[in-house]
Amino acid sequence: MMDNSAERAIAQSNSYVRSSLASVDSCVHELLLRQERQERTTLKLIASENFASSAVLEATGSIFTNKYAEGYPGARYYAGNEIVDELENLAIERLKRLFGSEHANVQPYSGSPANQAVYRALLKPRDKVMGLPIPEGGHLTHGWDINFSGTDYRRVPYGLHEKTQQIDHDLLRDTAKRERPRLIWIGGTAYPRVFDYEVMAEIALEANAYLVADIAHISGLIAAGVHPNPVRHCDVVSSTSHKSIRGPRGGFILSRNEDRYQALYHPKSKYNLARRIDRAVFPHLQGGPHMNVIAALAVALQEAATPAFRVYGQQTVKNAKALAQALLERGYDLVTGGTDNHMLILDMRDRPLSGKAYAERLSKAGIITNFNMVPGDPRDPAVTSGIRLGSPAVTSMGMREGEMVQIAAFIDLVCRQPNDPDVHASVRKDVANLCAAFEVPGITDR
Ligand SMILES: *Cc1c(COP(=O)(O)O)cnc(C)c1O
Repeated sequence: MMDNSAERAIAQSNSYVRSSLASVDSCVHELLLRQERQERTTLKLIASENFASSAVLEATGSIFTNKYAEGYPGARYYAGNEIVDELENLAIERLKRLFGSEHANVQPYSGSPANQAVYRALLKPRDKVMGLPIPEGGHLTHGWDINFSGTDYRRVPYGLHEKTQQIDHDLLRDTAKRERPRLIWIGGTAYPRVFDYEVMAEIALEANAYLVADIAHISGLIAAGVHPNPVRHCDVVSSTSHKSIRGPRGGFILSRNEDRYQALYHPKSKYNLARRIDRAVFPHLQGGPHMNVIAALAVALQEAATPAFRVYGQQTVKNAKALAQALLERGYDLVTGGTDNHMLILDMRDRPLSGKAYAERLSKAGIITNFNMVPGDPRDPAVTSGIRLGSPAVTSMGMREGEMVQIAAFIDLVCRQPNDPDVHASVRKDVANLCAAFEVPGITDR
């Protein structure tokens, strides 16, 4: 029997658990409301952002956040993991089915830690790595010199074709043959075209290099069947889970089970490729997995396997193309001249202001973008000459081609009179009106 004080204490703690954020922490609650309001009334055109569904948010904010589960299903270092074992296996199975992969790891905390694990599993420090440089659309973790990947490994950049601004496969093949990189990355963060995994696989084979696709941006498009799937052609595929695929903030890695270069590069290892990936994630780089995020990933993967998500992926690409077309018609230059995927990069090299200045002005008008390097950018990386735009979030709100034409007109108004506060205010009002006509997943659908 509990005495009264113990009962009181439990009752009190229960009410504490049930009490809402508003009454516990008005500061954070207020910030949350402001952020929600901002996202409801502005256009989220950041290509790497999206709106996770209410179900994904609910799983992210669930009590799975409390559980420690170092290790992998069936081999944990803590007790009480029977249920989260089922949960992690569910996420793994859904991921393998969705992408047709032999092996999946759902524990990376995000995209960059996933890529760190790839390096650890495949390479030794100072090995040569080929990747797209940042100005040409690559990611920090593909060998850039301010990142571990550029300091701990030797970077061999691969270039774009000067005219098309797309990957020059002939140049890449010659460079790979000459330099013999151990790993070739295929993927990027600001590359608006489809990747040719078949040609890349041939080149990697000729160079005895691992081919790794980083699908952080396009995993949702691949899941929806609107961008080719690299899994068959690559040794490893890494991704974030929060961009076009619309899951929680996190990462995952897909791979083959066996390492085709085991005898060549890892003759002494008793572990196959899948095991080396798992061991690189835990225990080499990380401790306990974030089970709440893995729960939310499982939910997002279920959503991504539906016919509705295929339609979403198709519309995301249609919207990006419509936005590109409308901007071209208004006289803007786009890197590569257009887009095949969910993003476009405005080339503002011959305009008076920097990419950063335009992004700031657009933001005053309720249009949220990011400034970005363009190929051959003469400006400093801290200001750049480009603006990256993406369609995933506005497509999640239900916008279609007609709205993209309106958005292009808004962008044009601001960029033509970037320093006029009246223009900012009037576009901001029009943007808010446009947004009010749509539901924002996770915010207005609850
Ligand atoms: C976003 C991105 C990453 C990194 O993801 P984070 O979650 O920000 O660490 C890695 N690679 C590519 C190509 C990306 O676009």
